[in-house]
Amino acid sequence: MAILFVATHYTPVHASRAINQSLPMNYQLIPKELRPIAEKVEARQRISEQDALALYEANDLNALGMIANVARERKNGNYATYIHNRYINYSNICILSCQFCAFAAKKRDAHAFEYAIDEIVQAVSDALPLGVTEVHMVGGLHPSLKKDWYLELLGRLRALDPHLHIKAFTAIEARHLAQRVFKMPLRDTLEILREAGLGSITGGGAEIFDSAVRDQICHGKETAPEWLDVHRTWHSMGGRSTCTMLYGHIETLAHRTDHLRQLRQLQDETGGFTGFVPFAFEPTQSHGILAHIKRASAFEQLRNLAVSRIYLDNIDHLTAYWVSLGLPLAQVSLSYGVDDLHGTILEEKIFHMAGATTPQQQTIAALEHAIREAGREPVQRDSHYRHISPKANGTHATPASAELACA
Ligand code: SF4
Repeated sequence: MAILFVATHYTPVHASRAINQSLPMNYQLIPKELRPIAEKVEARQRISEQDALALYEANDLNALGMIANVARERKNGNYATYIHNRYINYSNICILSCQFCAFAAKKRDAHAFEYAIDEIVQAVSDALPLGVTEVHMVGGLHPSLKKDWYLELLGRLRALDPHLHIKAFTAIEARHLAQRVFKMPLRDTLEILREAGLGSITGGGAEIFDSAVRDQICHGKETAPEWLDVHRTWHSMGGRSTCTMLYGHIETLAHRTDHLRQLRQLQDETGGFTGFVPFAFEPTQSHGILAHIKRASAFEQLRNLAVSRIYLDNIDHLTAYWVSLGLPLAQVSLSYGVDDLHGTILEEKIFHMAGATTPQQQTIAALEHAIREAGREPVQRDSHYRHISPKANGTHATPASAELACA
């Protein structure tokens, strides 16, 4: 059985800046109106929601990147991480019909799918020899799968490899399981799932917390307080989780700021969030109220990442979700506050059913190549962003394929 080791870091090629240090800012390159915010960041003072809004409204992207980089290098030095993981979407059948979602289906729909437990176990079993350390598993709110199905699935994945981290279920899935499937209080449901093998819950489903926006883009989904309560409950049980934001649709910059405020507030309370993973709305298949939405520009995506890094001073890691950004832009984002390129994923479905044209997976070599080329030091991480050494039986793709993937 492969063993994971906490990394004793080999001498980093580019890691001249240790964690907790950062290069001083060149204030000549920061516009006058942003200097008071930059000074706060350099002095390790918390910025306000007004400050965050001012940053969102700023058009000097390089100044934002410079400020975000101070926060980024203070927390993570020159390291940039990635995880070797396998995505599984067990089913897209869902009782809800969120307006932005091109993934969900009703049972009668031609694109509905539902994998048998044997098929999921086989897929994960096939990924283990590649060295994956995590299976990331989410699905729709399935109308008829039973409690035993979920428990058997977790139990059989756990039995494949007790060191494999099972990251599964969004907050809305956790509530669905508690209310309609297990018919138990949320905390008891999470305890049973953890007992069966659940390692952490995912950060999905946060969308934008504002209730009026939610009503238009995901009518019927859990409210912001309900999403936050699932994570609060999980954190109170000693669990960790990630958090997300779906932006670039009908929300305003004030809505984004409010979303970040609520995440920072919960993090002050629990400290349970390991990383923040914002992603832009994928508009290819959009219709109805979202039909007019254009894809967020590269500028907008980098600005959003930089502002997130500066504002969320109590969340250690910021992930660029390359499935949404594309690896080339994710690579650039390493200079705009990002310290993590997410993972190999091996098979992404949700964004691709919405029309994403990025690849459905990356090799470790491609991710490491992207990180090194950006002047950062690549390190594999576990599900809680802790540095690890690759599994002894992990396979690394050749640099040639990395160059192709980054092209
Ligand atoms: S976003 Fe989730 S809850 Fe909403 S329709 Fe899609 S799968 Fe269902």
